[in-house]
Amino acid sequence: MRIVLDAGHGGGKGQGDPGAVDPVQPAEGDMLYTEEDDLAFDIARRAQEALMLSGHTAHLTRRPNQFISLQGRCDLANRLGADVFVSIHLNAGPPTARGFEVFSYPGSCPGAQLRDAILGAIAKAFPDWVNRGAKEANYAVLRGTKMPAALVECGFVTNTEEERKLHDPAVRQRMAEAIAAGVIKYGREKHGRV
Ligand SMILES: [Zn+2]
Repeated sequence: MRIVLDAGHGGGKGQGDPGAVDPVQPAEGDMLYTEEDDLAFDIARRAQEALMLSGHTAHLTRRPNQFISLQGRCDLANRLGADVFVSIHLNAGPPTARGFEVFSYPGSCPGAQLRDAILGAIAKAFPDWVNRGAKEANYAVLRGTKMPAALVECGFVTNTEEERKLHDPAVRQRMAEAIAAGVIKYGREKHGRV
């Protein structure tokens, strides 16, 4: 399979779009500073490696500190004729919000199959994390891509405990491998391809 992995946002640090930002809040015991685009890129890069080790072709939509428009991400995947598109994000919300969730485009059947395969793989790899479930959303990268597409929210950077976990490279590796496993499972069921 040819897979396009899209690390959300990009080009933080005062230029571009850092995505969700969690500032250092020492009073609340939070000593970490997080920009979503950095962690999303790291997970995407690890997922790319996992997919390539399994014999697939995997492209990234951007470089570490690069910003690319939502349409640019779709155009790249469409131009490459990708079989699967996965956008990787981290969530933001009230301090108590936590867990992972995966989105597909409303009414897209292959998208929902891809979404469910990825969600299932993450749930298996993170049994002690909150599973917020499979959802639909009219997101630009899901709407503009011609192939089955899913958008993963890996966890909340605004939840102190989850943010701390996501700063652990081993946790990001596990997340990346779960995303890759979900994509591979989808490919196997859908196309009979390994
Ligand atoms: Zn995001």
